[in-house]
Amino acid sequence: MSLYFPTSLHPSLIQGASLEQWNDANWQLRHSFTQAAQLEGYLQLSADESAALQSCGEKLSLRITPHFLSLIDPADPSDPLRLQVIPREAELRHEEGELLDPCGEDADMKAPGLVHRYPDRALLLCSDRCATYCRYCTRSRMVSGGSKCRMPLNMDAAIDYIKAHPELRDILLSGGDPLLLSNEKLREILSRLREIPHIEFLRIGTRVPIMLPQRITDELCAMLREFAPLFISVHCNHARELCSAAEEALGRLVDHGIPLGSQSVLLRGVNDDAATQRALYHRLLCCRVRPYYLYHCDPVSGSSHFRTSIKEGLDIIDSLRGHTTGYAVPDYVMDAPGGGGKVPLTRESVLRINGGIAVRNYRGDIYHYPSAE
Ligand code: SF4
Repeated sequence: MSLYFPTSLHPSLIQGASLEQWNDANWQLRHSFTQAAQLEGYLQLSADESAALQSCGEKLSLRITPHFLSLIDPADPSDPLRLQVIPREAELRHEEGELLDPCGEDADMKAPGLVHRYPDRALLLCSDRCATYCRYCTRSRMVSGGSKCRMPLNMDAAIDYIKAHPELRDILLSGGDPLLLSNEKLREILSRLREIPHIEFLRIGTRVPIMLPQRITDELCAMLREFAPLFISVHCNHARELCSAAEEALGRLVDHGIPLGSQSVLLRGVNDDAATQRALYHRLLCCRVRPYYLYHCDPVSGSSHFRTSIKEGLDIIDSLRGHTTGYAVPDYVMDAPGGGGKVPLTRESVLRINGGIAVRNYRGDIYHYPSAE
């Protein structure tokens, strides 16, 4: 593994670490920033951020790895990476229509930690910790240990349920972040799933290659490779998150034969314009990650300051489709509030004109289709 010290790293980030320590995932986790006072050694907190930091911990704890903090420009209060991980007071406000469980997962939990909603696939919530906590987190009710609600997990019951349901062929491991589990624990979970004859396909959703790329070691990749076919969905929202260390971590996964797709969230002030989105997807492709989903920000309690309109999302997709490589255009989707599941968001492209059908292309030009149906 290459060893990285970002250029001109601030002493408050290094905390006396050697190059080897900086590139060690456990050192990064042990030296993560969890208190306002620690952050103040690196950047100046606004009054809004300071106030939010006083009380946000009961909802979603503060945690930022030194690695991710090093990517934030301390002189820019609107830095798009900063907005994702440092709380603001708006996070403490509950707006009408927002929910603690916006995707309605609790109602579809068939065993503690196992959500079965779609016909042939299920979600296994196997970790309640993340390397860094995202302030818009859909599962903020149960990750980080901040709130009173804990992530339920009974692995034996979850495995028994999966065994009893032969229609399940695909299990997604998520949380929290599954890649924060030890290699041994992760191997145990994956082995138990692989022993089930009808489970064909495994997936892991993670933000670790971005927040803690030091965790993506050859040993971890080789272990994951044993469980192929196993795909990884990488949560990434801005091209600047894809620094050289993240690029190397993602490349290591690909070199071990693990297919990578991305999941991004459309966030006000972070990536809500066409140029930023385009740069993100181009950079992901260069890191050998196929842009997969762009999520409309879920109406989780305290997230209104992050949410855009759906029209803005559709406009962004229009600015990409046809104008750049097809691989660089993700599907724009939302999780329908209340458990409706994932819904693709597309502009109404089929028009009825004079009794016939017409379609609108990426430029907005209208073409008549030679059929009335
Ligand atoms: S990495 Fe995922 S689960 Fe963890 S805080 Fe961010 S959005 Fe939530």
